[in-house]
Amino acid sequence: MFLHALRRQRIPLARWSPARFIATKNVISDPMTGELMPSTPDIQPHRVEILRNANPATPPPAHTLVFGHTFTDHMLAIPWDAVSGWGTPEIKPYGPLQLEPSSTVLHYAQTIFEGMKAYRAEDGKVSLFRPDMNMKRFNSSARRLALPTFNGEALLDLIKHLIRIDQHWVPKEPGHSLYVRPTLIGTQKAIGVGPPNEALLFVIMSPVGPYYASGFKPVSLYGTTEYVRAAPGGTGAYKLGVNYAPGVLPQKSVAALGYSQNLWLHGPEHELTEVGTMNMFVVFSKDDGTIELVTPPLDGMILPGVTRDSVLTLAREHVSGKKRLQGLPDKLIVSERTVTMKEVKAAVAAGQLVEMFGAGTAAVISPVDRIGYMGEDVLIPTGEDGMGQISRPVWVELIGRQWGTIPSEWSVPVTE
Ligand SMILES: *Cc1c(COP(=O)(O)O)cnc(C)c1O
Repeated sequence: MFLHALRRQRIPLARWSPARFIATKNVISDPMTGELMPSTPDIQPHRVEILRNANPATPPPAHTLVFGHTFTDHMLAIPWDAVSGWGTPEIKPYGPLQLEPSSTVLHYAQTIFEGMKAYRAEDGKVSLFRPDMNMKRFNSSARRLALPTFNGEALLDLIKHLIRIDQHWVPKEPGHSLYVRPTLIGTQKAIGVGPPNEALLFVIMSPVGPYYASGFKPVSLYGTTEYVRAAPGGTGAYKLGVNYAPGVLPQKSVAALGYSQNLWLHGPEHELTEVGTMNMFVVFSKDDGTIELVTPPLDGMILPGVTRDSVLTLAREHVSGKKRLQGLPDKLIVSERTVTMKEVKAAVAAGQLVEMFGAGTAAVISPVDRIGYMGEDVLIPTGEDGMGQISRPVWVELIGRQWGTIPSEWSVPVTE
């Protein structure tokens, strides 16, 4: 749009932005659409330069770990600019970034992230869980913010290299893992709103304990209607930094009311969307004894979670008979459809709400026991130790595949 407007006014690109003018030397136009596309180098894993940390730390005892507080000895950094594309990848000591105050990330929130975990199996081998999904989503977030995209496999190669260098940071203790946090920021040193001509991709890693130290403590939710997390046509389906800062105040206000998370409701019918920063599932029973596992559809407001997809896939493989999960009912329906608070309340009243849970990489499965909604508490049944009849068998299979006790294609080896 902007470019067309400029052309119409015959303003030479050079006068508008010298940086972008230089960039046009390395821009080709798409033969199909005429759209300008960069022709610069992609991420090149073989060019990685490694600078070892001269003062490596000792990983702290597993039981002292607090989520996201401790980082490993090394980080990965890959610079990008519009003229020369992705630059030399560097694995170097974890440490502060140098940014100019004019960096666009600091003004317009040009920042996206991913979250995934490396797991250590009993035999000591380290693996990642479905990292291709994270690479795909990372690229989709980058595209949404007009940040540079990249070859996901090339980045994954470098992430594996980083993990191998810091592999003694992957905890051995049950339930513990190494949280991997890829981030991409716009670092253009000029405060114009536009696609940045410079960017920095970095990856840091943090050893983490189990989300719940003692069993599965169910969470209470507050049905939030006064704030929205995502809206149709908005950015809820992408892991953009800008989606999270506005959620902190609503989180604080529900905590003050004694609830642990926001249940983000959408529209006049109060459709359930997500729980805090997790996807959500509701399980209903029907008059004929059929059980239905429901999660809201990927309609642009829902973050396409890897855990969400894994829960759906495992449940569907059970139904199709590809892999039966012990404990799951035979008569199971798996649905991606809208659920409203009216339906949830009616099911609770009829004794037909089986369970409800959040799903995400950090907590894996997080049972829900209560929803504060329009001045009352809607009580949600939970299993004996929190997890219910559907979530437990799915969780058992899921963590088995994550830690490699159940072999699957989802587990991607990092070390030999
Ligand atoms: C990251 C995230 C999830 C969960 O995604 P996973 O890939 O399963 O970790 C769900 N909702 C939101 C808003 C998220 O940011």
